Amino acid sequence: MEYDVKSHLKSVLKSLPPNVKLVAISKYHPQEFIEEAYAEGQRIFGESHEQELKQKQAILPKDIEWHFIGHLQTNKVKYIAPYISMIEAVDSLKLLKEINRQAAKCGRVIKVLLELHIAEESTKYGLTLEACRQLLAEGEWRSLEHVRIVGLMMMASNVDDEQQIRREFTTAADFFDEVKATYFADDEAFCERSWGMSDDYPIAVECRSTMVRIGTMIFGPRVY
Ligand SMILES: *Cc1c(COP(=O)(O)O)cnc(C)c1O
Repeated sequence: MEYDVKSHLKSVLKSLPPNVKLVAISKYHPQEFIEEAYAEGQRIFGESHEQELKQKQAILPKDIEWHFIGHLQTNKVKYIAPYISMIEAVDSLKLLKEINRQAAKCGRVIKVLLELHIAEESTKYGLTLEACRQLLAEGEWRSLEHVRIVGLMMMASNVDDEQQIRREFTTAADFFDEVKATYFADDEAFCERSWGMSDDYPIAVECRSTMVRIGTMIFGPRVY
């Protein structure tokens, strides 16, 4: 193989503190790359398209923990509910309820993260801090027994300004503390702060990330 996944994975792992989990983002990369990383001991992989994930999940080892990291349409939840380990980008009560419904059908409890929209870039996805407060205050999530909210996820703006990136991660970390204290003080499972990608993960780790999502630095550039 030309691209050395193993050595790139090793150097990423070496740069992470032991309390930070690595989600290896394998979207658009072939099965062989995932197998290389798997052989090195990597078990958590992230994908963002249901069809692609389905194909990979069917042929790759069953002890892989798959994280869905992309925008998930409610009509696609049923396809991933039987096996998905974590759905990272939940940004509406409607999606949360559908995940609960499908997880119940499978007799599962699915871990999810609430996706925040903090970046100054305009994107359709993610909850503003106010919308996230509202969703939690409204309380219906408490009755959803087949989903478990285990933390927050966000993406920083795609900019060179390190101060701006740091500001956005810090906003997310402070908001995590607020939500933890208000709603999850007695819930040990609510502990994940998923931020940091190839270009900004060292800053994310300084800003209390517990889970980095790294693709390019491990697998090389994606060919779309
Ligand atoms: C693609 C993707 C990543 C990985 O990005 P890299 O820059 O390749 O590390 C992380 N998070 C999300 C939500 C993504 O869609």
